[in-house]
Amino acid sequence: MYWLRRWSVRHSRALEATYQLMERCLLGIAPAVSRIGHSRLEKPVAAVEKVVKGALFDCQMCGQCVLSSTGMSCPMNCPKSIRNGPCGGVREGGFCEVKPEMRCVWVEGWQGAANMQNGAQIATVQFAVDHRLKGHSSWLRVMRMKTAELADTADIARTAHSDSSQLIADTSSQLSRKHGTTAGEDRE
Ligand code: SF4
Repeated sequence: MYWLRRWSVRHSRALEATYQLMERCLLGIAPAVSRIGHSRLEKPVAAVEKVVKGALFDCQMCGQCVLSSTGMSCPMNCPKSIRNGPCGGVREGGFCEVKPEMRCVWVEGWQGAANMQNGAQIATVQFAVDHRLKGHSSWLRVMRMKTAELADTADIARTAHSDSSQLIADTSSQLSRKHGTTAGEDRE
């Protein structure tokens, strides 16, 4: 729904906060989701996502959501599917070159980003659409990516901790060997 899509852009700040909260909730339930299996949940979650985001953003289920970097304006509604827009044909008043009755999704996105806490992300260069992900749930994808990121960070922290513990152990053993030698030399 075009009017609802525009409403979402006007309320981008509130939606950004909702998404941040949702991300924390998704991370909270990630272990349970892993136990059930992402592949089992793919269809039902994608169906819910399609309804919710379809209503709010006219989501086309590209499977690699970038709303948080595009001012809550879905770039897949651009008739040219430009993920790094706008094109050079924006009409006077910010209207689309191809659909003159529609506002350019990137003009909308720029206004939405201006209201957002992390609105500067609109400057991030987006990858081309991976059509293999079409129809898949972005929510589950984000959950998988964030969980993997957290696991990597925990691994790095564990490795750094064990390296520093090893270094401390090596240093103290070298010091005690040195002190032992010195004490021996003193007794001679
Ligand atoms: S960027 Fe993709 S997943 Fe996000 S709202 Fe648009 S079509 Fe849907």
